[in-house]
Amino acid sequence: MSVYFVGAGPGDPELLTLKAARLLSETPCCIWAGSLVNPALLEMLPDGAAIHDSAGMNLEQIIDVIAKAHEQGLSIVRLHTGDPSIYGAIAEQMDRLDELGIDYQVIPGVSSFQAAAASLPAELTAPEVSQTIILSRVAGRTPVPESQSIAALAQTRATLCLFLSVGRLETLATELAEYYGPACPAAVIYHASWPDEIILRGTLDDIAAKVEEAGITKTAMIIVGHALTRPLKAASKLYAANFTHEYRQGSDDA
Ligand code: SAH
Repeated sequence: MSVYFVGAGPGDPELLTLKAARLLSETPCCIWAGSLVNPALLEMLPDGAAIHDSAGMNLEQIIDVIAKAHEQGLSIVRLHTGDPSIYGAIAEQMDRLDELGIDYQVIPGVSSFQAAAASLPAELTAPEVSQTIILSRVAGRTPVPESQSIAALAQTRATLCLFLSVGRLETLATELAEYYGPACPAAVIYHASWPDEIILRGTLDDIAAKVEEAGITKTAMIIVGHALTRPLKAASKLYAANFTHEYRQGSDDA
Protein backbone atom coordinates (compact mmCIF):
# COMPACT_ATOMS: atom_id res chain seq x y z
CA MET A 1 0.00 0.00 0.00
CA SER A 2 1.40 3.33 -0.84
CA VAL A 3 0.82 6.80 -2.06
CA TYR A 4 2.20 7.53 -5.51
CA PHE A 5 2.79 10.98 -6.95
CA VAL A 6 2.67 10.07 -10.61
CA GLY A 7 3.78 12.09 -13.61
CA ALA A 8 0.98 12.02 -16.17
CA GLY A 9 3.25 13.31 -18.94
CA PRO A 10 2.27 16.21 -21.19
CA GLY A 11 -1.01 14.80 -22.54
CA ASP A 12 -0.58 11.94 -25.00
CA PRO A 13 -1.36 8.77 -23.00
CA GLU A 14 1.42 6.96 -24.88
CA LEU A 15 3.92 9.27 -23.22
CA LEU A 16 3.17 7.78 -19.80
CA THR A 17 5.94 5.68 -18.30
CA LEU A 18 5.17 1.96 -18.08
CA LYS A 19 5.18 2.31 -14.32
CA ALA A 20 2.65 5.14 -14.38
CA ALA A 21 0.40 3.12 -16.71
CA ARG A 22 0.59 0.09 -14.41
CA LEU A 23 -0.16 2.10 -11.28
CA LEU A 24 -3.11 3.80 -12.98
CA SER A 25 -4.52 0.47 -14.11
CA GLU A 26 -4.32 -0.92 -10.56
CA THR A 27 -5.27 1.96 -8.29
CA PRO A 28 -8.59 2.05 -6.44
CA CYS A 29 -8.24 5.80 -5.79
CA CYS A 30 -6.98 8.59 -8.04
CA ILE A 31 -6.70 12.31 -7.37
CA TRP A 32 -5.98 14.04 -10.66
CA ALA A 33 -5.16 17.60 -11.62
CA GLY A 34 -8.27 18.07 -13.72
CA SER A 35 -7.40 21.40 -15.31
CA LEU A 36 -4.18 20.09 -16.90
CA VAL A 37 -4.14 16.31 -17.18
CA ASN A 38 -5.66 14.65 -20.25
CA PRO A 39 -8.97 13.07 -19.08
CA ALA A 40 -8.29 10.16 -21.49
CA LEU A 41 -5.86 8.84 -18.85
CA LEU A 42 -8.76 8.16 -16.49
CA GLU A 43 -9.97 5.45 -18.87
CA MET A 44 -7.01 3.39 -17.67
CA LEU A 45 -8.34 3.24 -14.10
CA PRO A 46 -9.99 -0.01 -13.00
CA ASP A 47 -13.80 -0.12 -12.86
CA GLY A 48 -15.14 1.40 -9.68
CA ALA A 49 -12.04 3.44 -8.83
CA ALA A 50 -12.76 6.59 -6.83
CA ILE A 51 -11.82 9.68 -8.85
CA HIS A 52 -11.22 13.11 -7.28
CA ASP A 53 -10.47 16.25 -9.30
CA SER A 54 -7.95 18.34 -7.35
CA ALA A 55 -8.83 21.47 -9.36
CA GLY A 56 -11.62 22.23 -6.90
CA MET A 57 -9.85 21.00 -3.76
CA ASN A 58 -7.54 22.71 -1.27
CA LEU A 59 -4.46 21.11 0.27
CA GLU A 60 -6.24 19.85 3.38
CA GLN A 61 -9.00 18.25 1.32
CA ILE A 62 -6.42 16.48 -0.84
CA ILE A 63 -4.52 15.23 2.20
CA ASP A 64 -7.78 14.12 3.77
CA VAL A 65 -8.65 11.92 0.78
CA ILE A 66 -5.14 10.44 0.78
CA ALA A 67 -5.15 9.81 4.55
CA LYS A 68 -8.60 8.16 4.49
CA ALA A 69 -7.70 5.87 1.58
CA HIS A 70 -4.44 5.05 3.29
CA GLU A 71 -6.26 4.17 6.54
CA GLN A 72 -8.41 1.74 4.55
CA GLY A 73 -5.29 0.08 3.21
CA LEU A 74 -5.84 1.35 -0.34
CA SER A 75 -3.07 2.64 -2.56
CA ILE A 76 -3.57 6.08 -4.10
CA VAL A 77 -2.36 7.70 -7.30
CA ARG A 78 -1.95 11.47 -7.11
CA LEU A 79 -1.73 12.31 -10.79
CA HIS A 80 0.21 15.44 -11.76
CA THR A 81 0.75 16.86 -15.21
CA GLY A 82 4.14 16.42 -16.90
CA ASP A 83 6.78 15.69 -14.29
CA PRO A 84 5.60 16.15 -10.71
CA SER A 85 8.83 17.85 -9.64
CA ILE A 86 8.25 20.91 -11.84
CA TYR A 87 5.58 23.36 -10.62
CA GLY A 88 3.72 20.37 -9.24
CA ALA A 89 3.16 21.71 -5.71
CA ILE A 90 4.09 18.26 -4.44
CA ALA A 91 6.49 19.51 -1.74
CA GLU A 92 3.65 20.83 0.41
CA GLN A 93 1.76 17.53 0.01
CA MET A 94 4.89 15.54 0.90
CA ASP A 95 5.41 17.76 3.98
CA ARG A 96 1.91 16.97 5.19
CA LEU A 97 2.33 13.24 4.55
CA ASP A 98 5.66 13.32 6.43
CA GLU A 99 3.84 14.87 9.39
CA LEU A 100 1.23 12.12 9.23
CA GLY A 101 3.86 9.38 8.85
CA ILE A 102 2.45 8.25 5.48
CA ASP A 103 5.00 6.91 2.98
CA TYR A 104 4.95 7.90 -0.66
CA GLN A 105 6.88 7.51 -3.88
CA VAL A 106 7.28 9.83 -6.85
CA ILE A 107 7.08 8.42 -10.36
CA PRO A 108 8.65 10.82 -12.89
CA GLY A 109 6.91 11.88 -16.08
CA VAL A 110 7.75 13.45 -19.42
CA SER A 111 7.62 17.19 -18.85
CA SER A 112 5.82 19.57 -21.17
CA PHE A 113 9.08 21.33 -22.04
CA GLN A 114 10.35 18.03 -23.44
CA ALA A 115 7.14 17.35 -25.34
CA ALA A 116 7.24 20.90 -26.73
CA ALA A 117 10.83 20.47 -27.91
CA ALA A 118 9.85 17.20 -29.57
CA SER A 119 6.89 18.80 -31.30
CA LEU A 120 8.97 21.56 -32.87
CA PRO A 121 11.19 19.39 -33.27
CA ALA A 122 14.27 21.00 -31.74
CA GLU A 123 17.41 20.26 -29.82
CA LEU A 124 17.58 22.65 -26.89
CA THR A 125 21.36 22.51 -26.58
CA ALA A 126 23.53 23.60 -29.50
CA PRO A 127 27.34 23.55 -29.65
CA GLU A 128 28.88 26.98 -29.06
CA VAL A 129 25.43 28.56 -28.79
CA SER A 130 23.84 27.23 -25.63
CA GLN A 131 24.83 24.36 -23.41
CA THR A 132 22.33 25.35 -20.75
CA ILE A 133 18.55 25.07 -20.51
CA ILE A 134 16.71 27.24 -18.01
CA LEU A 135 13.26 26.14 -16.83
CA SER A 136 11.48 29.11 -15.38
CA ARG A 137 8.41 31.32 -15.46
CA VAL A 138 7.52 34.99 -15.25
CA ALA A 139 6.17 36.29 -11.97
CA GLY A 140 2.42 36.11 -11.69
CA ARG A 141 0.40 35.60 -8.54
CA THR A 142 3.35 33.43 -7.51
CA PRO A 143 6.30 35.79 -7.17
CA VAL A 144 9.76 34.99 -8.59
CA PRO A 145 12.87 35.92 -6.58
CA GLU A 146 14.49 39.10 -7.95
CA SER A 147 17.77 37.26 -8.57
CA GLN A 148 15.85 35.04 -11.03
CA SER A 149 14.10 37.84 -12.90
CA ILE A 150 13.75 37.47 -16.66
CA ALA A 151 16.54 40.04 -17.12
CA ALA A 152 18.84 38.04 -14.84
CA LEU A 153 18.12 34.80 -16.68
CA ALA A 154 18.42 36.44 -20.09
CA GLN A 155 21.96 37.55 -19.34
CA THR A 156 23.02 33.90 -19.61
CA ARG A 157 21.69 33.72 -23.21
CA ALA A 158 20.79 30.13 -22.39
CA THR A 159 17.84 28.33 -23.99
CA LEU A 160 14.75 29.33 -22.01
CA CYS A 161 11.72 27.10 -21.48
CA LEU A 162 9.08 29.17 -19.79
CA PHE A 163 6.07 27.64 -18.09
CA LEU A 164 2.94 29.47 -16.93
CA SER A 165 3.92 32.60 -18.82
CA VAL A 166 2.09 32.78 -22.14
CA GLY A 167 -0.40 35.31 -20.76
CA ARG A 168 2.44 37.81 -20.41
CA LEU A 169 4.24 37.03 -23.62
CA GLU A 170 4.15 40.53 -25.08
CA THR A 171 6.15 42.22 -22.31
CA LEU A 172 8.26 39.10 -21.89
CA ALA A 173 9.30 39.05 -25.57
CA THR A 174 10.13 42.75 -25.52
CA GLU A 175 12.31 42.31 -22.47
CA LEU A 176 14.05 39.21 -23.85
CA ALA A 177 14.74 40.96 -27.17
CA GLU A 178 17.10 43.34 -25.35
CA TYR A 179 19.38 40.44 -24.55
CA TYR A 180 18.77 37.87 -27.30
CA GLY A 181 18.02 40.31 -30.11
CA PRO A 182 14.62 40.69 -31.80
CA ALA A 183 15.50 38.11 -34.48
CA CYS A 184 16.13 35.36 -31.93
CA PRO A 185 13.96 32.29 -32.58
CA ALA A 186 10.99 31.89 -30.25
CA ALA A 187 8.30 29.24 -30.26
CA VAL A 188 5.05 28.68 -28.42
CA ILE A 189 3.56 25.22 -28.22
CA TYR A 190 0.00 24.92 -26.95
CA HIS A 191 -1.12 21.53 -25.63
CA ALA A 192 2.04 19.76 -26.78
CA SER A 193 1.25 16.12 -27.64
CA TRP A 194 -2.56 16.62 -27.36
CA PRO A 195 -4.77 16.13 -30.44
CA ASP A 196 -5.44 19.90 -30.57
CA GLU A 197 -1.78 20.88 -30.28
CA ILE A 198 -0.78 24.22 -31.87
CA ILE A 199 2.84 24.98 -32.79
CA LEU A 200 3.80 28.58 -33.46
CA ARG A 201 7.31 29.43 -34.62
CA GLY A 202 8.65 32.94 -34.94
CA THR A 203 11.09 35.41 -33.46
CA LEU A 204 11.01 37.52 -30.33
CA ASP A 205 9.77 40.28 -32.60
CA ASP A 206 6.65 38.55 -33.91
CA ILE A 207 5.80 35.62 -31.60
CA ALA A 208 3.47 37.61 -29.33
CA ALA A 209 1.34 38.75 -32.28
CA LYS A 210 1.12 35.17 -33.59
CA VAL A 211 0.04 33.88 -30.19
CA GLU A 212 -2.57 36.59 -29.84
CA GLU A 213 -3.93 35.84 -33.29
CA ALA A 214 -4.17 32.14 -32.42
CA GLY A 215 -6.02 33.04 -29.20
CA ILE A 216 -3.64 31.07 -26.95
CA THR A 217 -3.87 32.20 -23.34
CA LYS A 218 -2.84 29.15 -21.32
CA THR A 219 -1.34 25.63 -21.24
CA ALA A 220 1.48 26.62 -23.53
CA MET A 221 5.26 26.33 -23.41
CA ILE A 222 7.46 29.21 -24.54
CA ILE A 223 10.88 28.23 -25.87
CA VAL A 224 13.39 30.96 -26.70
CA GLY A 225 17.01 30.81 -27.75
CA HIS A 226 19.52 30.81 -30.56
CA ALA A 227 19.84 27.03 -30.18
CA LEU A 228 16.59 26.86 -32.19
CA THR A 229 18.38 28.37 -35.23
CA ARG A 230 18.69 25.81 -38.02
CA PRO A 231 20.76 24.76 -39.79
CA LEU A 232 23.34 24.73 -37.00
CA LYS A 233 26.37 26.99 -37.27
CA ALA A 234 28.61 24.38 -35.63
CA ALA A 235 27.88 20.67 -35.49
CA SER A 236 28.63 18.71 -32.34
CA LYS A 237 32.01 17.09 -31.83
CA LEU A 238 30.36 13.82 -30.86
CA TYR A 239 29.75 12.63 -34.44
CA ALA A 240 32.49 14.63 -36.17
CA ALA A 241 34.58 12.32 -38.37
CA ASN A 242 37.88 13.59 -36.92
CA PHE A 243 36.86 13.47 -33.26
CA THR A 244 38.28 10.61 -31.21
CA HIS A 245 36.54 9.48 -28.05
CA GLU A 246 36.27 6.42 -25.83
CA TYR A 247 34.17 4.45 -28.31
CA ARG A 248 35.45 5.64 -31.67
CA GLN A 249 38.77 6.45 -33.37
CA GLY A 250 38.46 9.60 -35.46
CA SER A 251 40.24 10.00 -38.80
CA ASP A 252 42.41 13.09 -39.24
CA ASP A 253 41.95 13.26 -42.98
CA ALA A 254 38.20 13.75 -42.67
N1 SAH B 1 4.69 19.62 -14.13
C1 SAH B 1 4.34 20.18 -15.42
C2 SAH B 1 4.20 21.69 -15.38
C3 SAH B 1 3.01 22.16 -14.58
S1 SAH B 1 2.81 23.90 -14.60
C4 SAH B 1 5.37 19.71 -16.46
O1 SAH B 1 6.38 19.09 -16.11
O2 SAH B 1 5.14 19.94 -17.63
C5 SAH B 1 1.64 24.12 -15.89
C6 SAH B 1 2.30 24.73 -17.10
O3 SAH B 1 3.02 23.73 -17.79
C7 SAH B 1 1.36 25.32 -18.12
O4 SAH B 1 1.00 26.65 -17.81
C8 SAH B 1 2.19 25.28 -19.38
O5 SAH B 1 3.14 26.32 -19.40
C9 SAH B 1 2.94 23.98 -19.18
N2 SAH B 1 2.27 22.84 -19.82
C10 SAH B 1 1.69 21.78 -19.21
N3 SAH B 1 1.25 20.90 -20.13
C11 SAH B 1 1.56 21.41 -21.35
C12 SAH B 1 1.42 20.95 -22.68
N4 SAH B 1 0.86 19.78 -22.98
N5 SAH B 1 1.88 21.75 -23.68
C13 SAH B 1 2.48 22.91 -23.42
N6 SAH B 1 2.66 23.39 -22.17
C14 SAH B 1 2.21 22.65 -21.15
